[in-house]
Amino acid sequence: MTEKRVYIFGNGKAEGRADMRNLLGGKGANLAEMNLIGVPVPPGFTITTDVCNEYYAIGKERVVELLKDDVTKAVQHIENLMNSKFGDVENPLLVSVRSGARASMPGMMDTILNLGLNDEVVEGLARKTGNTRFAWDSYRRFVQMYGDVVLGMKPTNKDDIDPFEAIIEEVKEAKGVKLDNELDVEDLKELVKRFKAAVKAQTGQDFPTDSHEQLWGAICAVFDSWMNERAILYRKMEGIPAEWGTAVNVQAMVFGNMGDTSATGVCFSRDAATGEDLFNGEYLINAQGEDVVAGIRTPQQITLEGSRRWAALAGIDEETRAAKYPSMEEAMPEIYKELDAIQTKLENHYRDMQDMEFTVQEGKLWFLQTRNGKRTGAAMVKIAMDLLRQGMIDEKTAIMRVEPNKLDELLHPIFAKEALAKAKVIAKGLPASPGAACGRIVFFADDAAKWAKDGHKVIMVRIETSPEDLAGMQVAEGILTARGGMTSHAAVVARGMGKCCVSGAGMLNINYKERTIEVDGLTLKEGDFISLNGTTGQVYEGQVTTKAAEVSGDFADLMDLCNKYSRLQVRTNADTPHDAQVARNFGAVGIGLCRTEHMFFEGEKIKAMREMILAETSQERQKALQKILPYQKEDFKGIFRAMDGYPVTVRLLDPPLHEFVPHDDKGQQEMADAMHVSLDYIRKRVESLKEQNPMLGHRGCRLGNTYPEITQMQTRAILSAALELKAEGINCRPEIMVPLTGIRYEFEAQEKIIREEADKLFSEMNTSIEYKVGTMIEIPRAALTADRIALHAEFFSFGTNDLTQMTFGYSRDDIASFLPIYLEKKILKFDPFQVLDQNGVGQLIKMATEKGRSVRPDLKCGICGEHGGEPSSVKFCHRVGLNYVSCSPFRVPIARLAAAQAAVEDTL
Ligand code: PEP
Ligand code: MG
Repeated sequence: MTEKRVYIFGNGKAEGRADMRNLLGGKGANLAEMNLIGVPVPPGFTITTDVCNEYYAIGKERVVELLKDDVTKAVQHIENLMNSKFGDVENPLLVSVRSGARASMPGMMDTILNLGLNDEVVEGLARKTGNTRFAWDSYRRFVQMYGDVVLGMKPTNKDDIDPFEAIIEEVKEAKGVKLDNELDVEDLKELVKRFKAAVKAQTGQDFPTDSHEQLWGAICAVFDSWMNERAILYRKMEGIPAEWGTAVNVQAMVFGNMGDTSATGVCFSRDAATGEDLFNGEYLINAQGEDVVAGIRTPQQITLEGSRRWAALAGIDEETRAAKYPSMEEAMPEIYKELDAIQTKLENHYRDMQDMEFTVQEGKLWFLQTRNGKRTGAAMVKIAMDLLRQGMIDEKTAIMRVEPNKLDELLHPIFAKEALAKAKVIAKGLPASPGAACGRIVFFADDAAKWAKDGHKVIMVRIETSPEDLAGMQVAEGILTARGGMTSHAAVVARGMGKCCVSGAGMLNINYKERTIEVDGLTLKEGDFISLNGTTGQVYEGQVTTKAAEVSGDFADLMDLCNKYSRLQVRTNADTPHDAQVARNFGAVGIGLCRTEHMFFEGEKIKAMREMILAETSQERQKALQKILPYQKEDFKGIFRAMDGYPVTVRLLDPPLHEFVPHDDKGQQEMADAMHVSLDYIRKRVESLKEQNPMLGHRGCRLGNTYPEITQMQTRAILSAALELKAEGINCRPEIMVPLTGIRYEFEAQEKIIREEADKLFSEMNTSIEYKVGTMIEIPRAALTADRIALHAEFFSFGTNDLTQMTFGYSRDDIASFLPIYLEKKILKFDPFQVLDQNGVGQLIKMATEKGRSVRPDLKCGICGEHGGEPSSVKFCHRVGLNYVSCSPFRVPIARLAAAQAAVEDTL
């Protein structure tokens, strides 16, 4: 806590600086900095964010007392520079009062303009400016804003309209006009009178006439607005702590509405949507700031080029454009030149794209704000790479400028912005797999296939998905589930497919029998259109138009740059040659996890797999396995081929068995026919496979150790595929991975089976290939005894989905029931299945890596849980010295960027 509470600026001097944003807020810090670099800024002062905290700690009265002298002096400072006096009738100074937090919170807090007016001062302002209409228009705007923000005027009528807006409407109606600017001086006087009467009627108070009283009211109102509902909600969404507080900026007013040599506008030093290096923006002649956004008048473009582009889109011919909507470059060429020079100066100074606000008062240009502009993912990449090429930033800065998660936007189709604005949100779930999707509702895989075959786009809607739904998921544009978290089947599979998915939308009542979704009184049927935003978790009624994402050449350049700096490698989780190829194109340097059970989801393969599971004797099992072997071998060949030259980690079978067997009559009958047994027999077998806790049941290496023939068959399939490809000249680097090891001997028993089968195969084929045998570390006991397991295991791959499940004791499929409440109550800061819990699960990873390497220094360690594509988790993996992360194909670029950022952070 510093003792200095007020920082002044003006006329090329300032007590603050750009790097003081924590204390002065973003706006305050930049206003100070702009002064220091010679940008014309109306003089003013900033009350610090610390004072906001004091305000809430010791109360309004004491804070006003503490601030009094400093604020009085600061106001005098503005008066001196502006050559006018606050509250003076003949030569009045008016001020604006604005909020400004450390992080930008657009529109969340309050602003008051034209402060310092009363019934006498307004006349003085009219005389001083020779513009009576302007003076009265400013006054009525002030009374309206101050009434709303400081005096808390609320709607009283049934239509819930702002009481001042209601009065304006009445006056306009009585006069028979439509627009505010058709009101004359007498009308504006009438408005002020009626506004003040409304204030008195609703609050019982007279509207304050003393300028200092007005100022204190406004300062306190800005502090109060830090705790208004929308600011609290916004902070929650953006993870902004309440302790940051807001600063208050008080500045001399400058007016863009003083006639045709005055104007106001907003501009960007580059295009925020595309990233193009093109100065752009909008302005209005003879207007105040809010008119640009209010939509009453069509704002005009600042540059000639922007104006021509705008006209082309709006279908306006050049002649009309030039006459009716001239650019600022044409209409105010001198001011434009100055504006252009300053925007360049600001961008060069901050070395980033700037978003600026300005006002021109009677031919003089003033800057009111500058900040680093918000931008799309595509613009983010382009701007970083352009700034690098232009020599404005270095390579490390370019890497750090790009937000990994925003790369997603470059990889998936997106909704058209205009379409989204009109769409109706009907539900919200977890943003399980990013992208945009739109299609007809279907509930069953068969139907999905049918509808898709008939040329329809479909969205697969399920209470939750299971492997049986995969065929449906494959043809669907997107997947929506009522249950399940970020690592639920639907989410994992959808991400793997790069398919949009919203999971855990609990408010949906899905009725399979009726084939309907009921939500909030609305009923949707099979075949109705629905749209999903997998990036936000929002579900929309009807069709929202999508457009294909564009990937520019800058994206590839950025990825090359990442390779130059990163140490951590990025592999992919892929179960099909197609996924492997996609990931390789995104720069994956191997497969970190191939889940073999995912290879059995289709047609004949699932039948053979079911036969294997339903078999009761080893002999029957062997028979079924022999059917599976050729399928497996072909699948592995496809994957090895796609990953020629790179390591491929194939995990032995790890399904909860019960998930794979048919649960419906039709499926059970099919298996009875195939296996020449009765339906009743199949039912009983299915029943007997049921477990209370399948995730903790007969899965992973428990399966391979109880049914060694499965491990034998898989080893044979993997290595014979590799040998056959080797003969074709393909460089296969197989790594066989044992899942769910908890005890050293569990692993060693599996390893023995693998090595024996391999030796047998090699001698049968009279050739051999190098391969590794390692294990998943996904059970806490395995992490705790990693030095014993590493005696035999040649590599570790941390399965952080299960490791999180078992470390927390949270079922990964049932977390949706309590997670939102835990997040709300801040018991959990984030979903540990999405973001690696560095203090708990992360410590197990760190310890196991160290223990493992203590007995095997060259032990290769990676991570293959869902966290492998999450930036903060990737950075943690770098810091604890893992060799690689492995993630779904569509997250590979994100992980590559995060890995490079982690390496750069080491050097900062
Ligand atoms: C894991 O547990 O992290 C893992 C990768 O395996 P699965 O998600 O298939 O259980
Ligand atoms: Mg696992």
